[in-house]
Amino acid sequence: MVLDQPGHPLRALELATPVPGARQVLLKVRACAVCRTDLHVVDGELPHPKKLLIPGHEIVGTVVEAGPGAGRFKKGDRLGVPWLGGSCGACPSCRSGRENLCDGALLTGYQIDGGYAEYTVADERFCFRLPDEYADAQAAPLLCAGLIGYRSLVAAGDARRLGLYGFGAAAHIVAQVARFQGRRVFAFTRPGDDDGGRFARDHGADWAGDSTQAPPEPLDAAIIFAPVGVLVPIALRAVAKGGTVVCAGIHMSDIPSLPYSLLWGERVLRSVANLTRRDGEEFLALAPRVPVRVEIRSYPLERANEALEALRRGEVRGAAVLVISG
Ligand SMILES: [Zn+2]
Ligand SMILES: [Zn+2]
Repeated sequence: MVLDQPGHPLRALELATPVPGARQVLLKVRACAVCRTDLHVVDGELPHPKKLLIPGHEIVGTVVEAGPGAGRFKKGDRLGVPWLGGSCGACPSCRSGRENLCDGALLTGYQIDGGYAEYTVADERFCFRLPDEYADAQAAPLLCAGLIGYRSLVAAGDARRLGLYGFGAAAHIVAQVARFQGRRVFAFTRPGDDDGGRFARDHGADWAGDSTQAPPEPLDAAIIFAPVGVLVPIALRAVAKGGTVVCAGIHMSDIPSLPYSLLWGERVLRSVANLTRRDGEEFLALAPRVPVRVEIRSYPLERANEALEALRRGEVRGAAVLVISG
């Protein structure tokens, strides 16, 4: 399924099976989760996607063939491919353990082709082995919703009372991890979304309310998963002195002007960008210990546009996943 031009639906297109280049593996894709970032790419909110792009960066596939110099995995191994598809390895960010900030990074399903396809190629150095406990479709959302959610949770520090704004694929995973770590979780959903509140309580939230409500007690940190800038002052108001507000998405509508008093008291406002391979190794080891239960709604590959539309409308409980059979 390819994107010809942002703002247009994806189109089914028959392409030649890609040939793995140096250090790449050719993967038969089994499942690819649909991330909000894919929507930002398809809708043209992220600039300059690859021309004739295959989106998708939460890919589960099995190795079919290895390219020149690729020897890390063998045929038949099941791997995960995340958003960070490559980094330069030489810049100050890469050399200081912050490859997520590399200017030369190659982002899967944005700058290089991703997993809305039957086959894809990936740099083996950026692939992960996946825990056996998870079936393909349940493993796929771990690769971004889980992994970048985990990075956001780490960025929130050792907050005991954690707020989550927007309870989609990432939050339903992060809430379970946070509970496992002994934190209390306060979930904020769209006003009027009672079903979303129930879903949140079923997946680790101690309390659920709508995002215009104040929590019953001050929070130590909050993570904003919804791409809605208006939530920033709301979340800052909900956190106690010294608390952190983490913006976890790659794109957000403008943040309204806010009084300095909301930031005063050593409150911290920060973003989380991309992921490092270390985040992936840590999170994929942790997920089965929790154990994180991943809720999915599956779609066949050719119905990718429906999956994107359901996500756009906020109709998906958990993660939408394209399942590629055969
Ligand atoms: Zn770099
Ligand atoms: Zn993503």
